[in-house]
Amino acid sequence: MTAVPAVRLTDLRKSFGPLEVLKGVSLEAHEGDVVSILGSSGSGKSTMLRCINMLATPDGGEVAIRGEVIGLTPTRHGMRPADRLQVDRMRSQIGMVFQSFNLWSHMTVLENVIEAPIHVQKRPRAEAVAEAEAILAKVGIADKRNHYPAHLSGGQQQRAAIARALAQRPKVMLFDEPTSALDPELVGEVLRVMRSLAEEGRTMLVVTHEMGFARDVSNKVVFLHKGVVEAQGAPGEVFTNSTSERFRQFLAG
Ligand code: ADP
Ligand code: MG
Repeated sequence: MTAVPAVRLTDLRKSFGPLEVLKGVSLEAHEGDVVSILGSSGSGKSTMLRCINMLATPDGGEVAIRGEVIGLTPTRHGMRPADRLQVDRMRSQIGMVFQSFNLWSHMTVLENVIEAPIHVQKRPRAEAVAEAEAILAKVGIADKRNHYPAHLSGGQQQRAAIARALAQRPKVMLFDEPTSALDPELVGEVLRVMRSLAEEGRTMLVVTHEMGFARDVSNKVVFLHKGVVEAQGAPGEVFTNSTSERFRQFLAG
């Protein structure tokens, strides 16, 4: 099959001042792929994810979402997106979930979830509320709809953040260490939701340290090391016979 990838990164480069963080990263995620992105702290995982939705602007290379290349234009201080409307359109197709939840603290769970559908996507309020309630039920926090984030556990907050991302009807979901800030006993409830999204066939790129998830749920593993893709492949192959000594060392911890 030669379908257009949901996400394609080609020779992606990004520096912060003198620090070269991404040194030419290429990666493809096709529709329905669940890609786990592994790597030590500082290897460039978050930067790569942020470049996909232009929260960070690449210095070189290309990001294409469903075949559409995000236009970049040089300025005196580096690159910037050429077309804000293109970035907005592309962002509405990408849901992002952060380590630190990033819910709006002054809004209830339901208000968090319906905010973008109503104010960005201009969908009718009644429709947005009905869909939000269905999504909250799916992630198991329907009973928390009128609570404020501060009154939820970390696991519930992260599930609310996932619900908020899903409410945009994204084509691709990006997760940046979604369970790293959670107490160990709350990790499972978030991973279960993510697994159910994977089983629905959602396209997901997941930066994670959860090896069980990488092994059992994802169909592709990418190991980033010092800003380059050091190893990648199907989990069954890459976990058992990677030729990368660095990846084997990483796995050995
Ligand atoms: P990872 O997510 O793999 O831990 P990051 O992509 O967050 O790695 O960071 C890679 C490197 O880039 C780190 O050395 C980090 O300090 C640096 N970095 C990330 N974001 C910025 C920024 N906005 N400004 C300066 N340095 C940054
Ligand atoms: Mg990170």
